[in-house]
Amino acid sequence: MIDDRLAELVAVLRQAPERSAVLLDIDGTLAPIAANATDARVPDATRATLGRLVDRFALVACVSGRQAIEARRIVGLDQLDYLGNHGLESLSPGAATPETLSEAAAWRPRVRAFAVGALDGRPEATATGLWIEDKGPIQALHWREAEDQSAAERIVAAIATAATEHGLALHHGRKVLELRPPLAFDKGSAIQRLLAGRTFASALYAGDDHTDVDAFGGLRALREQGMIGSAVCVAVRDAETPNAVADAADAAVDGTEGLRRLLDALVLP
Ligand SMILES: [Mg+2]
Repeated sequence: MIDDRLAELVAVLRQAPERSAVLLDIDGTLAPIAANATDARVPDATRATLGRLVDRFALVACVSGRQAIEARRIVGLDQLDYLGNHGLESLSPGAATPETLSEAAAWRPRVRAFAVGALDGRPEATATGLWIEDKGPIQALHWREAEDQSAAERIVAAIATAATEHGLALHHGRKVLELRPPLAFDKGSAIQRLLAGRTFASALYAGDDHTDVDAFGGLRALREQGMIGSAVCVAVRDAETPNAVADAADAAVDGTEGLRRLLDALVLP
């Protein structure tokens, strides 16, 4: 069951699903965090709920730091909209390939060359289990699998300093450091682009990390502009969720299971 506060917020969304949007982060929100990021998968029960949501709601979208194609693979549903790379990419329902913001695509060679060079110049980095995920214009350094976490974090800190000197932007996530083009983009501007030109009775966003707080801000800005009647921001809490996420949210659920129960409540007959 969900608590009274959530039940109240759910009731708002249930009033007019055909004019409402459901926007969801993936890792730590829909899919449990996996020790190896490539093993993450949305559980079957959650996928079934998402299938019912997309039949009933005006818009169901996943907003992820992963590449859009990878996001769709993990969720396993073609009917949803996917915003990947924190909104640098968008993949429409059924589309074969994502669209990338052109100013970001132009940065890919430079960001990639820096990331590869940073690891090649530090043999100890690969020895700790640090690896690079090639996300096009974003290159992500992962160390969740590293045996010596503090050694990995020291190396990442050194690479971060060098990246800044190289003119790149940084973004820290849960055991991941992203090297990014120095462009202004986040999940907030991503959902604003996705929802642009449409009005919604209500919209929900759920997420578990700092990047999702940007999405909360984007959703609330749309409400201030009168594009959304009600904005509902939900924190998905587990042991690693930064406090800032729950502090910024309207309500919180416990982990990916708690979120699934909330989504189930949206599609109850
Ligand atoms: Mg997440």
